[in-house]
Amino acid sequence: MSYKNYPMVSRVVFGRGSFNQLNEILSPKRLNTKAPFIFLVDDVFKGNAWLTSRIPLSYEDKLLYISAAEEPKTSQVDALVEEIILTHKERPSGIIGIGGGTLLDLAKAVSIMLTNKGESKDYQGWDLVKNPAIYHVGIPTISGTGAEVSRTTILTGPQRKLGINSDHTPFDQVILDPELTQGVPKDQWFYTGMDCYVHCIESLNGTYLNAFSQSYGEKALALCKEIFLEGSLDVQESADKLMMASWHGGMSIAYSQVGVAHAMSYGLSYLLGVKHGVGNCIVFEHLEEYYPEGVAMYKAMREKHNISIPQNICANLTDKEFDIMIDVSLSLEPLWENAIGKNWKNIITRQKLKELYQKM
Ligand code: NAD
Ligand code: ZN
Repeated sequence: MSYKNYPMVSRVVFGRGSFNQLNEILSPKRLNTKAPFIFLVDDVFKGNAWLTSRIPLSYEDKLLYISAAEEPKTSQVDALVEEIILTHKERPSGIIGIGGGTLLDLAKAVSIMLTNKGESKDYQGWDLVKNPAIYHVGIPTISGTGAEVSRTTILTGPQRKLGINSDHTPFDQVILDPELTQGVPKDQWFYTGMDCYVHCIESLNGTYLNAFSQSYGEKALALCKEIFLEGSLDVQESADKLMMASWHGGMSIAYSQVGVAHAMSYGLSYLLGVKHGVGNCIVFEHLEEYYPEGVAMYKAMREKHNISIPQNICANLTDKEFDIMIDVSLSLEPLWENAIGKNWKNIITRQKLKELYQKM
């Protein structure tokens, strides 16, 4: 038996207003005046001087606004890398992602692809990245995915939606400033927050569970209950705690895996472009059979906050389209093995998945 030896985020700063320290954190990392910092920023912040005026641009540094309307694609990563290579003589000093899981994953993937040959689709999978990425920094502006702490960057490629899981993926630096999450719309707050909640339920109820994952998962779940169910926190406490719940939820799945909800929501996302947070909610509504207590608590949270979840999104799909989703879902073997156990193939049949998708 050999145990995995995981890298972690090397440095992290936490606190309201810690974003103000960006310049002092980055300055020592500048390689030279021709090696720029490239800031990938969610375009929801375009024109938002409160945030953007604090992004320190000097020499040949570049700020690129990127829409989070769609989840990151391998083609998008390759195009960004090409643009960066063509417009700068030297390799960048660093890539800084500012936004939700979408921007954080883009920053990770771009930093990897600047030092590794070929196309990003060739690195989707486990431990395929050869060269260390360039220095990369993650600054979340919405909490829940755990992308700020994870060892993966999830990309939709021509064949599949799959992460680049590697020792070179985690951020070198993360800035956790809960103030940055203040403008998140309520529905989105719930959807992305539920990503964290679902990470906890899937990790804590999985066959891969161990004391490492459990300790983080239990803490994240307790925080989610405080935030989404008990409702005794003020706005700032709630935002601070959700940022830490996201971190702990991400740490919990580092040493285990996610489960049924993620395996199925990847199918929805691949075929229909449903985004990760809301996709998990759509699926989780129908998973009582696998996570009875987790689903009951989820429904109580959803009702408490009066959130509506899209219905009947699979109503008009063809058999061929169901097959595509089922193929994507079944290909995620570690998720099923974690959720159901080694004999999962006898239990999770194509027919079973089709029946579940038909309810969504
Ligand atoms: P997101 O990044 O897609 O953003 C969701 C929405 O919130 C967008 O419209 C965005 O513009 C908006 N937004 C973000 N911050 C805001 C703010 N402060 N104010 C107002 N609006 C704001 O959402 P997400 O749920 O954080 O990320 C989903 C992505 O994360 C998916 O692509 C998923 O695959 C990925 N993901 C990655 C990991 C990982 O470990 N790498 C884990 C889970 C999910
Ligand atoms: Zn997730």
